[in-house]
Formats: sequence, C-alpha cells, structure tokens
Amino acid sequence: MAKTIPTRQCIGCGEKKEKTELIRIVRVSEGDYEIDLTGRKNGRGAYLCKNPECLEKAFRKKGLERSFKEAVPAETMEKLKGELING
Ligand SMILES: [Zn+2]
Repeated sequence: MAKTIPTRQCIGCGEKKEKTELIRIVRVSEGDYEIDLTGRKNGRGAYLCKNPECLEKAFRKKGLERSFKEAVPAETMEKLKGELING
C-alpha cells in the first residue's frame, strides 16, 4: 500500500505541497523566528515553499501574522530571507 505523504499549505502562494518540498518556519519565542530545516524544532510552525518569493508573498499578505497571531517585524522577514537564500 502506498504511503500517504502529508501535505502542507504554503502561507505564501497558498499551494498545497508535500512536506518535504516545504520549509518550516518556527516561532522560537515572541517575535523570534527561525527556519527549521530539520522539521523537529519545538514551537508553532508555518510552512513555506523553498522560495524567497513565497516568503515575500507571505509577508505582504500577512500570512505570517495570521499563522503566528502576532506582528512579524520586517527585520525578521529579512533575516529569514537571508537564511532561505544562503542556506
Ligand atoms: Zn509557495
């Protein structure tokens, strides 16, 4: 029997993709977010395509705010974008 691969929705473009195709953003503490490449970090998470454009979309559409229920500062977006591009 084929295994069902769990899918998650990208908070940027809204597309549903397999978890392995997405990155997880974790809220480590208030106003502090990290890109979780292992998928095992504790905390509230949101999923995003491995694409800086989706991060920007998520930021513009307040997808991060909606997911985490708090305001996400622009510096955080820049930091995450840097991590996404470099790493
Ligand atoms: Zn996306």
